[in-house]
Amino acid sequence: MTIVNSLMKPLVALALLGGGAHMAAANDHGDDMSETAPFSDWTLVIHGGAGVLERSRMTPEVDAEQRAALTAALEAGKAILSSGGKAVDAVQAAVVVMEDHPGFNAGKGAVFNAAGGIELDSAIMDGASLDAGAASGIMHTKNPILLARAIMEKSPHVMLQGPGADTFSREADLEQAEQSYFETEERRRQLERMRERDAASVFDVDVKYGTVGAAARDTHGNLAAATSTGGLTGKRYGRVGDSPILGAGTFADNRGCAVSATGSGEFYIRANVAAAICARVRFAGESVQDAADAVQQEVFDLGGRGGVIVVGPDGTPAFSFNTAGMYRGVALADGTVETGIYGGEEAGLLNQGAVTE
Ligand code: ASP
Repeated sequence: MTIVNSLMKPLVALALLGGGAHMAAANDHGDDMSETAPFSDWTLVIHGGAGVLERSRMTPEVDAEQRAALTAALEAGKAILSSGGKAVDAVQAAVVVMEDHPGFNAGKGAVFNAAGGIELDSAIMDGASLDAGAASGIMHTKNPILLARAIMEKSPHVMLQGPGADTFSREADLEQAEQSYFETEERRRQLERMRERDAASVFDVDVKYGTVGAAARDTHGNLAAATSTGGLTGKRYGRVGDSPILGAGTFADNRGCAVSATGSGEFYIRANVAAAICARVRFAGESVQDAADAVQQEVFDLGGRGGVIVVGPDGTPAFSFNTAGMYRGVALADGTVETGIYGGEEAGLLNQGAVTE
């Protein structure tokens, strides 16, 4: 199977992939894309968090378990995209799988806050319409991404937080869960370890960011992104991370790209990461990889750690992270389904991370 590097010229991609739907419009940089075949008719990229994920620290069992979960998430989105479904439905489906899996910091398996509770953040955005929904500090919705979707479709608002968001969730008939549903022993141990150290270590680079996210292009040429998280272990005072903030941890716009981020959220908020990547693609004509790497560098220079997954208007995927690893995966219309964990893995498409440490 041929892996097409995202940096290849569109004409090369055309020759290798052949056929496919054509982009209808020029982008804002003035490139006429009407004669350019997409990189892939549909594309799905996912992440399950970035951090100190080193081969030497990972047991074969955990490696296999996490890859299986990533593959299941890819398959859930692929089932929708390969049958002509919508990008926004595919990113939601992929995120639900990872929320339900205790190995990620979202839904079941989310991290504990400083008070020993669990507060969840989520966002979803449709790049075709710029419709979006986001929730923060929610405590009882089993699948927070479904709450973001309901806010997008059933409320006049874009973002709800705290008890109000939980009330809306009940009124929207979403499945509710006790806090105990989200709890896992591993996450409780992480909180204990953090308490033993120092509260100020909330940005310790040893932290594994287990947020989950997805970005996709569908066969209609529409983009979407979704992100779901428990935030940071030991977070305080109603802290809100980047994940539910549109333009920071989550963003989708057909004219630029779709992005989901993971990492030290405060830095991702300050660097306006997801919107900045898409603006570079939209207005400066940068490739999704170059744009992602440039903004990741800005985050790194500020002191932030983490990564992003990106899909461009033609379905080109990009991964960029400044941590040792990032749980990630890609599925393409040509049948490609790949997962990765560590930096510098041999698999072509997943090997595009900017590892700077
Ligand atoms: N970015 C998330 C936050 O700061 C954490 C993560 O990626 O795991 O809330």
